[in-house]
Amino acid sequence: MNVAKTIAEIRRCVRDARAAGKTVGLVPTMGALHVGHVSLIEAAAERCDFVVVSIFVNPTQFGPGEDFEKYPRPFEEDLAICAEHGVSAVFAPSPAEMYPQENLTWVGVEKLTAPLCGRSRPGHFRGVTTVCTKLFNIVGCDVAFFGQKDAQQAVVIRRMAADLNMPLEIVVCPTVREDDGLAVSSRNKYLSAEQRKDAAQIFQSLSRCREMIEVGEKDASAIRAEMCGILGRVPAMEIEYVSIVDAGTLEEIERIGGRVLVAVAVRLGTARLIDNILVDTTR
Ligand code: AMP
Repeated sequence: MNVAKTIAEIRRCVRDARAAGKTVGLVPTMGALHVGHVSLIEAAAERCDFVVVSIFVNPTQFGPGEDFEKYPRPFEEDLAICAEHGVSAVFAPSPAEMYPQENLTWVGVEKLTAPLCGRSRPGHFRGVTTVCTKLFNIVGCDVAFFGQKDAQQAVVIRRMAADLNMPLEIVVCPTVREDDGLAVSSRNKYLSAEQRKDAAQIFQSLSRCREMIEVGEKDASAIRAEMCGILGRVPAMEIEYVSIVDAGTLEEIERIGGRVLVAVAVRLGTARLIDNILVDTTR
């Protein structure tokens, strides 16, 4: 497995792979790899001959006071996980390699970045879309793999790639969960044992929502109220949003119909946790 720390090195690896006729898949990550990331690596290995995993805690997508400094960086363990899962090359640049001078050029997606996480994390998606554009330009992949866990990110990246005619396919993989339903996340490490137990209520609330929709509830406010009640069982949990939106436009809906994205963001201790489900009522 190649471990490239510079743009020149990863370009060389990919150029050699292409010369050998290989298709290239990219899995962008911030490291602290877990089974969620592994599911993306496996999906990439199934589709592509040469799998690149990028590991970069991107400073431009963190706001002031967020967890950029304390974000876990277990680099050697991450390399072991990549090697174990047949990754062809890891791209792990430093911030200075990615941003050698003041960044004056940004990629921004309108509308889709305004609601949900965009509301409490101004500038976050601009950082994400800019770094993903840079990674796509650096690696030159045929396919890039993202997780449904970050539902808004997936919608935004897909739209960016389409609007800017980026010559690659975006694949979104299902959310991997713990046994009690909690979405696996690098940020779960911030939870105490008790908070970890309490965090299961997030999936409980989403599951209840799915049930309500399946038995025909059409009133989004009624569903939201029920979900807030379930989350409210954990007094320490601070609800940032419980939103029921159109899965394509991310606009809030009042009547359930079409493809519905139900998304939750909470704060529990120092952790900010997000999760979501997609419910397709057209099926
Ligand atoms: P991160 O390292 O948290 O930026 O995540 C890198 C990629 O892994 C993103 O596309 C995430 O959506 C995806 N991802 C993170 N957690 C999960 C999970 N539990 N299931 C599936 N994909 C995930």
